[in-house]
Amino acid sequence: MKIIFSLFFLSFFCFVSILPVHSGIYENALEKINFGERAAGEAALEKLFKESASSEERINAGYDLVSLLAEEGRSTEALAVLESAGFQEHSFFYQFEKGWLLVSLNRIDEAVKAFARAKAFTASQSLLSQADFAIALAEAGRNRTDKALETIVSVYKGYPYLLSASSQLIGRWLMRKKDYDKASFFTGSSLQYDSHGYQAEADFAEISEKKKEYTPAWQAWRTLQEMDPGEKRYDKKLKKLAKKVKDGSDNLMFWQRMNWPVHTELRKIHGGADVKVALYADAEGKQAGITEFSFMANSDFDIVDDRLGPLMTGKKFTPWKIIYDTRENMLEIHDSLGSSTRSTYSNITITCRSAGAVILIKDPVFAGNPHGINRGDREAGGGLRIIHDESGIRLITVIDEESITCPITASLIRRSNELEFSKSAAVAVRTKIRYLAGHPRHNDGEADMCDSSHCIEFSGLQTENMLATEAVRSTMRQVLVSTESGGLVPVSWIQACGGTVNICAEETENRTNPASPFSLYSSFITGPDGNILCIPESRLEYVDLNWTLVLDPSWIEARANRKSRIGALKTLVPLKRDEKGSVLELRAYGSKGYADFSGEKEISMLLAAGTLRSMLFSVRPVMKGGKPVYFIVRGSGTVSAGQGGDAPFCLRGAEGMAFKKNADYRTILEKYFPGTILSPSEPEKIQDTDEE
Ligand SMILES: [Zn+2]
Ligand SMILES: [Zn+2]
Repeated sequence: MKIIFSLFFLSFFCFVSILPVHSGIYENALEKINFGERAAGEAALEKLFKESASSEERINAGYDLVSLLAEEGRSTEALAVLESAGFQEHSFFYQFEKGWLLVSLNRIDEAVKAFARAKAFTASQSLLSQADFAIALAEAGRNRTDKALETIVSVYKGYPYLLSASSQLIGRWLMRKKDYDKASFFTGSSLQYDSHGYQAEADFAEISEKKKEYTPAWQAWRTLQEMDPGEKRYDKKLKKLAKKVKDGSDNLMFWQRMNWPVHTELRKIHGGADVKVALYADAEGKQAGITEFSFMANSDFDIVDDRLGPLMTGKKFTPWKIIYDTRENMLEIHDSLGSSTRSTYSNITITCRSAGAVILIKDPVFAGNPHGINRGDREAGGGLRIIHDESGIRLITVIDEESITCPITASLIRRSNELEFSKSAAVAVRTKIRYLAGHPRHNDGEADMCDSSHCIEFSGLQTENMLATEAVRSTMRQVLVSTESGGLVPVSWIQACGGTVNICAEETENRTNPASPFSLYSSFITGPDGNILCIPESRLEYVDLNWTLVLDPSWIEARANRKSRIGALKTLVPLKRDEKGSVLELRAYGSKGYADFSGEKEISMLLAAGTLRSMLFSVRPVMKGGKPVYFIVRGSGTVSAGQGGDAPFCLRGAEGMAFKKNADYRTILEKYFPGTILSPSEPEKIQDTDEE
């Protein structure tokens, strides 16, 4: 009996020792790295790298170690690990990693050679482009600007995932050559390819100033100030430029201005319960106070005072203005001709007489200088609550569920022309609106939801389009309810998941789990699997899926120092990640100390003034003389702030199901929202608007 037992154990241990990759020790080390014990994890990896009996595990641990050291700016040590025995020199990633480390050690000739060698070990377009991108950056780093430009053009033309990044760098390098016209073209294009391009916006501002085009320069700095209100350098720039632009006021900004309602007729698609939406709110849901605004309705309307009852009536398409008298705490209501003016101390409500009406809100003037709100004109619903207190007027539109579903669906489907996808989006939007109305996040009793990302972004009925309207019409009243509880589904959506939502990645190989530093980093370099559903049709939208930012340390350093005095920024190190690899906590190391940033809001603000597309990213410094010259942030997916959740609706994936698999909206919704049904199961027929 004893002998049998010991034999059994012996064979068991033999089995363990030949187990390849992902041994308990390795997983344990990864867990430490992802859950805040980086130093311990690093030590464990080092031990594995030196001692593991499995060569595969040794190499995995080695690459992870190189990644961690590179993140920390410890290039010499990282290179020593890479060059020690055991690695396969004849591989793309060996040479690619070596190249970047050599760049940081200012050994550029050797670095360029390593990148060139890397190219000999791959046929993949992504990897070839990544190597060229690296060569271009290395050459630019030693002021060989022509060589850099020559090299990066192939990336710009051939690899859509690096389109916005290469376009931005081309602009920057042309600026160096004082070719400001072309520079401005490429930087501007970069912003078109990637509207989140915070760094391109800053470059654009610089180039415009150099070109003596002061208005666009003013606009770009003002846009940046809007993103990052704490940065004093923007204030200085704006002050300086204000003397050079004719009208240094917000009239120069891009906020939409409308003279007349887009809807000159009553809207046909409407119905359902009214929702009350607080307008001009910031990302926290706080409404900005308004001191005056104009409005025009496309239907006759009544103005009713909370205390005095019916106050005035108005004709359609006549301009009106409301002014808040701050001294008297009183509203003044002026009609078009100024012939009838009324004042009141109480709150008022404007109600259009026809269903499907809109009220255009124009030229709002804000109290103080609130940041981070869309100040544009907009078409609100047919009802408008005007309440006021010391902070000014707050506007709340009263709009029916079907009406507000239209423009929000339009913003989700963007340029898509897939009706079934649009229908699935309409159902998701309607469900979310009804859910928010039933679970209000605004406690003042006046609003069910607000118009910012705090609830759902809504910039007005003028943004609806035909396809979205058709999608709403053909799913009328339908929402998603749980089959189990019968309750509304708390829907959340994201632009593109990059394969992290299971449905999108059904036909691809699974990602490594748990995320290891190198597996994550290399997946961003390699680019998304061609089989995932959320690869967009248009190359211009690829950046939704896989993105690269080349960021100047100075802005990040300034933001980090505003939180805590860390001195000169040295490096940025992810401290914690979730199971899928999303960064939960990031530490900025400086010459005088460090500061920790946690949660998407803080991290996105630190790195990119709040424009980071998702938390699934890697960040690497590129050093020169021991200081970072730039940070390359590479990431996957696009998730709006506060969205995501456990099982988000991947919009580009749903679009992919419609065009790649001809799925109808029911199938799409079944896939992305398992355990739910449509209620009612058939859409309601719409009633036509009664004519006035
Ligand atoms: Zn809100
Ligand atoms: Zn997806």
